[in-house]
Amino acid sequence: KQAAYAELRDVEPFTRCGTRIQVMMNAGLRDDISALAMTGADGVGLFRTEFQFLVSATLPQRERQTRLYRDVLDAAGDKPVIFRTVDIGGDKSVPYLASDIADKDENPAMGWRALRLALTREGLMKAQARALLEASGGRSLYVMFPMVSEPWEFDAAKKVFDEQLAFLRSKKKQLPEAIHYGAMLEVPALAEVLDLLLPKLSFLSVGTNDLTQFLFAADRANPKLAERYDWLSIPILRFLRRVMQSSVGSGVDMAVCGEMGGRRLEALALLGIGFRRLSITPAAVGPIKELVRKVDLAELSEAVTGWLLDPSVNLREELSAWAAARDIETD
Ligand code: PEP
Ligand code: MG
Repeated sequence: KQAAYAELRDVEPFTRCGTRIQVMMNAGLRDDISALAMTGADGVGLFRTEFQFLVSATLPQRERQTRLYRDVLDAAGDKPVIFRTVDIGGDKSVPYLASDIADKDENPAMGWRALRLALTREGLMKAQARALLEASGGRSLYVMFPMVSEPWEFDAAKKVFDEQLAFLRSKKKQLPEAIHYGAMLEVPALAEVLDLLLPKLSFLSVGTNDLTQFLFAADRANPKLAERYDWLSIPILRFLRRVMQSSVGSGVDMAVCGEMGGRRLEALALLGIGFRRLSITPAAVGPIKELVRKVDLAELSEAVTGWLLDPSVNLREELSAWAAARDIETD
């Protein structure tokens, strides 16, 4: 099986009906980038910059951040890398930061984390913005903000980048050729204001790990709940389909970068509701490319649309049977 996936490395994932699906991978360390060449992924759809913070005994200084981002871009070559600004705080606590950050929130997932924290600790955000802009001198920068809950948070984060860009310009430093800003959709409230947010973005990536825990009010870290709510459920898929539908005509690239996209039945469901870009764990790139090549999107979308009309349907069973009838492997 591994050999079959290796053969797919240089094969572009077109569906049976001829649609090119973007299969990207998630990463967090410099060494993860070698998986781009190994798997043939289209790029890094989510680079979790907080890994460098979490594995450091001290706060990574700006120069160290710049070095990492430059190394990652060098290693990725022509393939795009979407850097997500730090998602620390909450349960991803970093003991070397001030005690109010190290303190455990009572509900860490819903606590003072990610952009919420970065926008109050502006020094942190400024240093990271400068590091990303400097590392991207002469090439494209893709930057994505986590846990955006309201459009003004996106504006505030982008402003930090604009200011650092102006500073670098005044110093006659080499600037990025182009900067693409995006947001993660992880907080359900944001879905209600996409009409305000989308015009500001070049891409939006749905973080289904956090989104699911917020939609079901089910802690993603609680083992007692791990098996209880299914990604293949009517509420999640109806929600995601509505998000997808609100983006039609916006010109914004829509993606899913949560773990959901790396599982075969779930990936089928996402393709069925209209997603054409997934960013997944590197080990899933081969299996998902294989699956994509066996799918007819019109047929799949018709089936999924029908199932979503009926809340009593068992989506996992329906999708398995649909896939089995088409010789699509799903285990
Ligand atoms: C997510 O929430 O789905 C996501 C991709 O981000 P993380 O898993 O890093 O929270
Ligand atoms: Mg998340």
